[in-house]
Amino acid sequence: MHEMALTRNVVDIVVSEAEAAGATEVRTVYLTIGYVRDIVEDLFERSFTYMARGTVAEHAELVITRVPLTVRCKKCDYVYHIDVHDSSTWGCPTCGAKDYELNTGMEFFINDLEIVGAAVPEVKSA
Ligand SMILES: [Zn+2]
Repeated sequence: MHEMALTRNVVDIVVSEAEAAGATEVRTVYLTIGYVRDIVEDLFERSFTYMARGTVAEHAELVITRVPLTVRCKKCDYVYHIDVHDSSTWGCPTCGAKDYELNTGMEFFINDLEIVGAAVPEVKSA
């Protein structure tokens, strides 16, 4: 299943990053996911919780930012939104060309982790 494979990767990355930082617990995982990525957030979160069981990321909360689909016109460089299900939005609103490249919407990455228990070198006060 699509979500499962992606989640597997995310859990692996989160756990190895957190462990490398000396974390005892991952509190929050910040993710950026493009609109084009066919992700069901609910399912994604549930499979994350399932796969993270027994790891430092077991109780992590997922904060997902979705990035809308935009394209850049190859003719005039105009950036605009398209709706993949509505062909009337596929043309450039300024020059009418239907020759574009993806601008945003394909993202899938981990922005940040909020961890607990990282070995931050603390100055021991006298
Ligand atoms: Zn254009």
